[in-house]
Amino acid sequence: MIETPKNLTKNILLGMFLGFVVGAIFYYVDFLPEPLTSFLEIYIFSLGGSIFINLLKMLIIPLVFFSLVSGISSLTSMKSLGNITLKTVTLYLSTTAIAVSLSLMIGSIFKPGSGYSSNIAPPDKLPEGQGIYETILGVFPSNIIEAMAQNQMLAVVFFSILFGMALNKTNHLTGNFSNAFEKLNTVFMQLVIMIISFAPIGVFCLIGKFVITDGLDIFQEAFKYVVLLISVLIFHALVTYSLFLKIFTNLSITTFYKKMKEVAIFAFSTSSSAATIPVTLKTVQNDLGVNKNVSSFVIPVGATINMDGTAIMQGMATVFIAQMSGIDLTLIQYIQVVILAVVTSIGTAAVPSAGTITLVIILQQFGLPLEAIGIILAVDRILDMIRTSVNVTGDAAIACIVADSENLLDKNIFKK
Ligand code: ASP
Repeated sequence: MIETPKNLTKNILLGMFLGFVVGAIFYYVDFLPEPLTSFLEIYIFSLGGSIFINLLKMLIIPLVFFSLVSGISSLTSMKSLGNITLKTVTLYLSTTAIAVSLSLMIGSIFKPGSGYSSNIAPPDKLPEGQGIYETILGVFPSNIIEAMAQNQMLAVVFFSILFGMALNKTNHLTGNFSNAFEKLNTVFMQLVIMIISFAPIGVFCLIGKFVITDGLDIFQEAFKYVVLLISVLIFHALVTYSLFLKIFTNLSITTFYKKMKEVAIFAFSTSSSAATIPVTLKTVQNDLGVNKNVSSFVIPVGATINMDGTAIMQGMATVFIAQMSGIDLTLIQYIQVVILAVVTSIGTAAVPSAGTITLVIILQQFGLPLEAIGIILAVDRILDMIRTSVNVTGDAAIACIVADSENLLDKNIFKK
């Protein structure tokens, strides 16, 4: 198996810590002349962080394509693909429904929006969300090259599955051509590891840039909303997934979380489930022992449609804005929020701040004031980082559950 560099997680954590410290020094202490500060900000933190994200993104499409094609082409029965798909989608939708219900419950008990008035100006232009119609249509690309170029994950997954099936059926005519995809997949995994080796520096730059730009005064605005939201996010990440793992598998929960550290840090510093796909895939396959046949499907699909953290934010934001505007949501409306949040989180792109875009769809549905989204955006940066970590943890937990149920999880690797 391909080896990951030693002490990588420790070094990434160190990079993250130093990013916070150095970023805070730049933000709070004026010790360097202005031109030098801006130069360092742009050419060290911003450029370094963007290069690192670009390198990760560079791998997503070929990695998903090769790993899915080699996984599907080695499947002996297509029935198992059907089972995996059904279990994956059901579990993803259930965890998201639980996530948003939790946040609505906590939001209506602790009332973050009552007595809150803000002087934050509404955004000039409201972002536009993508509806469910476009999401479904987007699964079926009219041009696969265009879909790949635009990182349209569901379209790429769909094409890769078809391609893998065709490869499987023609292996006897093509001299086992599927072996080539197996080999290319190994090469891409090696590339992932080569790029992840730079993560301590990449994470340092990303976190440093975040602190330099936004500072650490995250709790100034909408204090109660921020605290409640973070609490529900942490609760869901630790308790709901633990329960799911306990109920559906007999895997060790501590081992799961220990091995997920790296993925969570990547998601935290990039704020993008999509950019984190290479790391999630690597961890789920190499460290948690999930067979490639499961992980290569469950992870890219999860990064695209499974967004529990995002749904939690959308639930809390809806309650917060309704309370702020003195609107009482009825029980039926709460149920509608759950359904809408599940559906819109599917349509949310796995990139920074995308959740606030689809939030507009929910607010519109209930006639809530769209201007209030200005408050949500003002505190969204750090919340986006945290909820993205929750999103990817959910993807990996479901990957373990599905793989275990199909006897496609190597317990020896998991325990190692
Ligand atoms: N940044 C999130 C993700 O990539 C999406 C969001 O909630 O804004 O998972």
